[in-house]
Amino acid sequence: MDERFVELEARLAEISDLQAASAVLEWDQVTYMPPGGAESHARMIGTLGLLAHEQFVDPAIGRLLDQLQPYAEGLPPDSDAASLIRVTRQDYEKAIRVPAPFMAEFRRHVAASYLAWTRARPSDDFASMLPYLETMIDLSRRFADFFPGYEQVADPLIDYFAHESLSARKVSGVFAALRERLIPIVQAIAAQPAPDDSFLCRAYPSQDQLAFGLETVERLGYDLERGRQDLTFHPFTTTFSPGDVRITTRVNENDLKAALFSTLHEGGHALYEQGVARQLEATPLARGVSSGFHESQSRLWENLVGRSYSFWTFFYPRLQATFPDQLERVPLEAFYRAINKVQPSLIRVAADEVTYNLHVIMRFDLEQELLEGRLAPAELPDAWRARFQADLGITPASDRDGVLQDVHWFGYFVGAGYLGYTLGNIMSAQIFQKAHQDHPEIEAEMGQGRFSTLLGWLNRNIYRHGRKFSAPDLLFRVTGSSLSAEPFLHYLGIKYSPLYGLQVPEEVP
Ligand code: ZN
Repeated sequence: MDERFVELEARLAEISDLQAASAVLEWDQVTYMPPGGAESHARMIGTLGLLAHEQFVDPAIGRLLDQLQPYAEGLPPDSDAASLIRVTRQDYEKAIRVPAPFMAEFRRHVAASYLAWTRARPSDDFASMLPYLETMIDLSRRFADFFPGYEQVADPLIDYFAHESLSARKVSGVFAALRERLIPIVQAIAAQPAPDDSFLCRAYPSQDQLAFGLETVERLGYDLERGRQDLTFHPFTTTFSPGDVRITTRVNENDLKAALFSTLHEGGHALYEQGVARQLEATPLARGVSSGFHESQSRLWENLVGRSYSFWTFFYPRLQATFPDQLERVPLEAFYRAINKVQPSLIRVAADEVTYNLHVIMRFDLEQELLEGRLAPAELPDAWRARFQADLGITPASDRDGVLQDVHWFGYFVGAGYLGYTLGNIMSAQIFQKAHQDHPEIEAEMGQGRFSTLLGWLNRNIYRHGRKFSAPDLLFRVTGSSLSAEPFLHYLGIKYSPLYGLQVPEEVP
């Protein structure tokens, strides 16, 4: 082995340690830290982030990568070593383009903007957020300008933050086709009587909810020797190493769905991270490939598995035994209909799996108009209301439940925001369909509470590779096709037509 490769690995492991240490602090910040630790935690996280960044953009890394080019060319392109050199080079070339003072300016703006938003939302005050939004749009354009040659301003932002090599034009095309087919489905469902889901809001003791959720993800394959669950306000998954992948959840005594489905969602992210091959540990390859791909796995386990009839034929008797007073008289069919209730609503995070994508597509389209200068930031609230009425048939009465509802445009770059969620939904159906083609027994196994065939297939085809392949390459390797909304629409048709007595749409040959 080339000794310079050994040196590169050692340097990357140090950087990975700094990042993992920062992740431990970030996890602690939102789980167990007493309020008095806030300032020192923020400082420590900042110091570790700066050290990791400085070590990574060190010209010595660039020289090592140059010297290792001939070595990499002599290796099979799919090998771990060649992949490590290739992916590190891509990361390095992106990282050195964005000057540190710019990122510091961005982080300062995010902190100020977030603080302003926490005040503006409760008081329904969009006007006070307008200057912050204008600055964020300006910062997003300046970020894009570090990567000249783009066709649309969002292209470098999508490539960097959401899904590499995916253009805004391609996303717009896929999203427009999806939107056109989703709107009539939502309208047809809204015209049907809504199922009763009131029993999901009875009193469900927190401890029992948490225990049931954890037991469920353990049965899916989440390894508690290498993971744990804690409470937090915004659920998330964090990885310190392949040996320590943690999930957090939130619980509401009067809403059975909240903890249950957020645990399944984070469990999906965690299964992905636990599945990364151990030999990739402490390298840039040791995590999921992109935010879109990661969401495809959380959504696969949360929705395609966790909201399916087969899944609940096994788990529902267990859930009833855990909550006999609340669910004894509720048959499985009624429970299944309740957890799959579709209803146009104002708030994205509370939306069902059918309408959710309209919330995301709307944000994506408005972002493109803002970035390209076709929409003035001051006109955003009106544009939001008009689009909501057109897509979901309802109009928010306030900006609090409209344009101010998520921190999005006040806390991140504009352009690649929530795109990953709908990319994830689309890809989850492409991937699940292929798994079923390879293993038709998966459906019956889910009904018996067995997930090893599905998880084994995902581990072999996706998880173990970490970031070795780019998101589009991996999708193609796994499914044999590029990004397509057809499998997702097919899945919705098959699932929701019987639930709502709709006509099954004819197959397009
Ligand atoms: Zn997620």
